[in-house]
Amino acid sequence: MASVELQNLTFHYPDLRTAALSNLSLSVRGGEFVVLAGPSGSGKSTLLRLLKREVSPGGRLSGSILLDGRPLEAWPAREAASAVGLVMQHPDNQLVVDSVEHELAFGMENFGMERSAMRRRMAEIAGFFGLEPLLSRRTDELSGGQKQTVNLASVLMLQPQLLLLDEPLAQLDPLAARDLLGMIKRLNDEWGITVIMSEHRIDDLLPLADRVVRLERGGLAFDGPPRGFAEEA
Ligand code: ADP
Ligand code: ADP
Repeated sequence: MASVELQNLTFHYPDLRTAALSNLSLSVRGGEFVVLAGPSGSGKSTLLRLLKREVSPGGRLSGSILLDGRPLEAWPAREAASAVGLVMQHPDNQLVVDSVEHELAFGMENFGMERSAMRRRMAEIAGFFGLEPLLSRRTDELSGGQKQTVNLASVLMLQPQLLLLDEPLAQLDPLAARDLLGMIKRLNDEWGITVIMSEHRIDDLLPLADRVVRLERGGLAFDGPPRGFAEEA
């Protein structure tokens, strides 16, 4: 469970005259499932990348981001890296090593975790995501849906409390998208992980979400329950 609070957040990329995010204030409670909507260019990816502390150097940021009440920049890098997980749109972009097993281990190995702890965690995660039969497979031989499942599972290895997803379903066929969405919902329900997920076509997400936040030109255009969003649209 992690809460997020944005206070008057404004962000300019170095080469952009208009703000990618403009005076955005928002608070997300621990355990909420938030769908981030908005047209292309409205600032969704920028917001998710800022929350993951992946900001373009030279960009100008003002306002504040609090994670669990503490300014995000005050979190030690390693703690922030494991507390916040990010899954991106293109399944291939996040895969870094050859096999599924190595992919899952990668983050924990980087953090120098004990092998026994890693084994236990891998068994738990592979079980949850149904990845046991795929552990020895090469990632480049997997389907798009399997790759995205491995990406999500790899992010979960580090026990994030906040899960950010940037259009994770966009490249998947409808069946794979439905499966992945089901897993995301279970992480939210069963493990209490706070979810902020952007998607272009959000109809399928509305029944699962606690809340919809819609951005337009970097500002808040809607913030409320899915039912209110559907009525307004
Ligand atoms: P969305 O995810 O909603 O499509 P983005 O956050 O990607 O929106 O983009 C918000 C604005 O910031 C857009 O005007 C986009 O062109 C601009 N932008 C995004 N990434 C960069 C970048 N790396 N450098 C400069 N401008 C960017
Ligand atoms: P409960 O509400 O029953 O206390 P927990 O939050 O303890 O539920 O989680 C139940 C199970 O989910 C445990 O096995 C725990 O290890 C696992 N779990 C909880 N949070 C995470 C997380 N962020 N990542 C992975 N596993 C988690």
